[in-house]
Amino acid sequence: MSLARRLLLRASRSAWLAHQLSERAFFRRAVRRFMPGEDLAAALAVAADLAREGIGSVLTQLGEQVTNRNEAAGVRDHYLRVLEEIRQRQLPAEVSVKVTHLGLDLNPKACLQDLLALAARAATAGSFLWIDMEESRYVEATLKLFPAVRAAHSSVGVCLQAYLRRTPGDLEALLPLAPAIRLVKGAYNESPDVALPKKRDVDAAYAVLAGRLLERAAQGEARAVLGTHDLGLITRLRERALAVGAAPGAYEVHMLYGIRSREQRALQSEGVPVRVLISYGTHWFPWYMRRLAERPANVWFVVRNLF
Ligand SMILES: Cc1cc2nc3c(=O)[nH]c(=O)nc-3n(C[C@H](O)[C@H](O)[C@H](O)COP(=O)(O)OP(=O)(O)OC[C@H]3O[C@@H](n4cnc5c(N)ncnc54)[C@H](O)[C@@H]3O)c2cc1C
Repeated sequence: MSLARRLLLRASRSAWLAHQLSERAFFRRAVRRFMPGEDLAAALAVAADLAREGIGSVLTQLGEQVTNRNEAAGVRDHYLRVLEEIRQRQLPAEVSVKVTHLGLDLNPKACLQDLLALAARAATAGSFLWIDMEESRYVEATLKLFPAVRAAHSSVGVCLQAYLRRTPGDLEALLPLAPAIRLVKGAYNESPDVALPKKRDVDAAYAVLAGRLLERAAQGEARAVLGTHDLGLITRLRERALAVGAAPGAYEVHMLYGIRSREQRALQSEGVPVRVLISYGTHWFPWYMRRLAERPANVWFVVRNLF
């Protein structure tokens, strides 16, 4: 992992830096590249624009590691409202949640009840619930929660991170559930004990894991989502999909709002279903720093907004 990436990921956890930067106008201007606005209305408006172009979306309210149960219940209630908005507006939109935003650290049982309530509402709203994957210390708990929700509802999927050494085993353990899996490379600062430190090894691991997922998707036994902006990798995986008999509609590509917009539309027009993950909310500092770490050149974008 590059020094710049490591420093930015460490900075993402600094409350002092968050306080210093979050109110600065230039920094807030730079954030707008990845986030249409802080409130749900801005996210819904973008989801509606995308829907007019035939592109689906995934909505997520920024936030993680809440410190009291009331806050977690508020997050659950917020997503229940979001799902109701999706239903009323007939949007092709899904939601994605973080288990620590739903209070996993405080009360895992209550967190499970919240996930069950959200998956049930997602089903009645014609939507879908995604569970993000957070730092490696939460993976075990997240992968216990997911099957429990999946046993009650099919409208739920989970994210897996290719950089984790454990992920090949986790994927095999999940496959019998005919799961929906969003495969990503991984966004956190992890030790080499748990995560592959070299980018080229992460890319190679991603290709192998995605290949396995595509084989299952070809048989109708998984919902395969490639959560990546890596166009070379996507091209190779599209060839692999053809080879294993997965038609373009049998897998999806999900990307983040503000990244590779032109390519999102090109993929969609070639028959690959695309969704755009739209983030909103006031708690954007750690998330934004992770976006900078993914491409440290983005820091120049922040600097440009100074002037
Ligand atoms: C839909 C979606 C959901 C995600 N959910 C999770 C999750 O639950 N848990 C988790 O750990 N991670 C999640 N991530 C983040 C993911 O782990 C990676 O950090 C992120 O996607 C960057 O990796 P990449 O696959 O795009 O490949 P990279 O090799 O990092 O990037 C490929 C190319 O994409 C472009 N690019 C990538 N990132 C940026 C950026 N920030 N700004 C500008 N250009 C960029 C660059 O041109 C780069 O060369 C998610 C990503 C997506 C797209």
